[in-house]
Amino acid sequence: MKITMHQINQQQNHLLSVTSEISFDEVVRSVRNLAGLSPIHVDLQLQKVSDNRVEVTGRLSGEMTLICSRCLKRFPQKFIVELEETFTSAPIDDESDDYAIEQGELDLTEMLRENLVLAIPFAPVCEEDCKGICAVCGNNRNEQHCTCEQEQVDPRFEKLQSLFGGKNQK
Ligand SMILES: [Zn+2]
Ligand SMILES: [Zn+2]
Repeated sequence: MKITMHQINQQQNHLLSVTSEISFDEVVRSVRNLAGLSPIHVDLQLQKVSDNRVEVTGRLSGEMTLICSRCLKRFPQKFIVELEETFTSAPIDDESDDYAIEQGELDLTEMLRENLVLAIPFAPVCEEDCKGICAVCGNNRNEQHCTCEQEQVDPRFEKLQSLFGGKNQK
């Protein structure tokens, strides 16, 4: 999704509004915990503030399908990302978060993708009190109660105790 400086210059007050829908299917493939993504609705204002600088504000919205990090269930989650970024044709140093205007063009896609990825939770949970999957029998403990819990904890605890006991004796 590219916008040219020429398009911005043609606007009154050098302010260009852009609305669009973009699909980011490759993000679904590359981000763990993400199972699906609706087309992203993009609503941006591009304001030229000087000859080599454009400020971009606006929002992304859509719906993502997340994979619960505890029980692996898929669940939908609506999201809105507010963004504020700067594009510049001046040299960009390493510490700057600015995006480049190259040959009079602003490539919005990478900027939008980065803002989208930041909005994906690192460890999503389907419900705050999701009990997760039993490490012993593999049951989803939200759906099925199992009695493994005791046997799961005890042997490890005993092993740990004997380990510590052994070290203390030396
Ligand atoms: Zn869950
Ligand atoms: Zn179990």
